[in-house]
Amino acid sequence: MSEELVTVATYRLALQAEVARVALEQEGICVFRADSNLVATNFFLAPAVGYIKLEVPRSQAEAALAIFQRQPGLLDRGGSSSNSEEEDDEAAQCLSCGATLPEEEDRCPACGWSYSVGDSEDCA
Ligand SMILES: [Zn+2]
Repeated sequence: MSEELVTVATYRLALQAEVARVALEQEGICVFRADSNLVATNFFLAPAVGYIKLEVPRSQAEAALAIFQRQPGLLDRGGSSSNSEEEDDEAAQCLSCGATLPEEEDRCPACGWSYSVGDSEDCA
C-alpha cells in the first residue's frame, strides 16, 4: 500500500511546483507535494525546509523524469547552471483559462482560478 516516494524535482516557487504537479498528473502520475504548506505560509522558512519537493511513487519516477526531459520548462532552472536566463521569463499561466498570471500573484485576474486551491493528496 505505502509505496516509497522519491523526489523528482524541487522548486522555490509554489507556482512552478503546481504547474509541474498538474502536468505530471495529466500524464497519469500520482504526485505529492512536500513542505508546500510550510513554504506557502512562511516564505522565509523556504530555504530551511529545502523548498518545495515534488514526490512520486518510485514505480512512476522514471515516467516523471521522462516528462521533465520532454518539457524542461517544468523544472525550476533557477539553481541550475543554465546561462540562458533570457528565455525564462517566469510567466505562469492560468491552468483554467490560459491567461498569463502576474508573477507575484497566485490567483488568475481573469477568472479567479488559484494555484493554491487544494493541496491535493488525492490521486485520480
Ligand atoms: Zn484564469
